[in-house]
Formats: sequence, C-alpha cells, structure tokens
Amino acid sequence: MTAVEQTADDLEHLNAQELVAEAVARYPRLTVATSFQKEASVILDLVMKADSSVRVFTLDTGALFPETRETWAKLEAHYDIKIEGIRGQQLERHWEQSTDSCCDLRKVVPLRETLATADAWVAGLRRDQSPTRADTPKLKWDLKHGLWKLHPLADWTERDVWRYIAANDVPYHPLHDQGYESIGCFPCTKPGAGRDGRWSGDTKVECGIHVAA
Ligand code: SF4
Repeated sequence: MTAVEQTADDLEHLNAQELVAEAVARYPRLTVATSFQKEASVILDLVMKADSSVRVFTLDTGALFPETRETWAKLEAHYDIKIEGIRGQQLERHWEQSTDSCCDLRKVVPLRETLATADAWVAGLRRDQSPTRADTPKLKWDLKHGLWKLHPLADWTERDVWRYIAANDVPYHPLHDQGYESIGCFPCTKPGAGRDGRWSGDTKVECGIHVAA
C-alpha cells in the first residue's frame, strides 16, 4: 500500500463533521468548489462552521439558472462570505455544437487552473447519486489535478442531506422543490430523479470535473 492510499484509508471512518475538521487542520490551502445544489449547501455549512476563512468558488459557466444565482447570493449573505465566480472561455451557445467541448471550456479548464493554487478541495459527491459515483471515497489523491480531494458526504443518502438542511436551517436551491434532484446549467438540466435530468437524452453523465484522469 502506498503512503497516499494509507492516508486516504485512514480517514474513511470519520463522519462528515470530523472529516471537514481534519481537512481544515491538515490543508492550509483548502478550497471548496460549490455548485449550489443541496449537497453544496451542506458542505458549505460544515466548512463554514469549521473555518469561515476557507476559500469558496463556483464555476460560473454563464449558463446558470437565475435560481442558482439567487442561491449564490443567499448563501453569501447567510455566511457573510464572498463566493468567487470562476469563468472559463464561453463560446456562444457552444452546448449546441458539443456538450463535451462546452463543459471542457466552461468547467474543466477553469477548474484545473483554480485548483493549481490549492492543496486540497472539497466536493459534495455521494455514492448513491449514480453508478459512476458508487466508489467515491471520503478522501483521495486527485491525480488529474495534483491535490487531495475530499467527499465528506460520500456515505450520505438523499434523506440525510435533507435532514441536515432542515435541522440546521441551511439555505438551499429552490429548484429542488420543483422536481430537479440534480442541477447544472439551464441548457442541459431538466427535472428528474437522481442525475436523470442532466444531459437528458444523451449518453453523457458527467461534465468531466469529477472524472479521474
Ligand atoms: S452543462 Fe451544458 S451549458 Fe454547462 S458547460 Fe456543460 S455543455 Fe455547457
């Protein structure tokens, strides 16, 4: 077993709060990538309670729902923080030509550039969201970006997420109440269970930012 695997296994038993506390202690350049979905609301609440100075950013694709921007503003006000909007190249209605290339320019490239200055990042992936996420560990070495990646909600269910939001009075994206279980850009998101509403009718299931190298 490599040193990297040992460290990752070491943290698998921690619950979400413990994992976030450990991450804050271990990684001075910890950063949070937020999508403003319900899991992102929980992550933000956990991180802000552990250390409100942690850098938080979102990939502002230029194709966000108005409700996403409202949630962005609501979370900034709730935690009294600034959530950075990171923009990549945005070609006009590029998603109509190629969703892969559009995701690459608007998400994958700017994420890579942003993570270059961090030593660990936190994301809200859960194992039960889709088969592609079933093996999500709580901590892993992100080979593609060259830093640690944490998934504090890896073993949470949908119900766990909603229970936390209700118990902690956390602001959340209003489209979840209109049948959208997963929310991305408006041209590529429809209401649906799990991630069914993302790139609906296409074989595409991930934008690429959470896909290993
Ligand atoms: S989700 Fe759609 S609009 Fe957003 S970056 Fe990907 S292809 Fe473009």
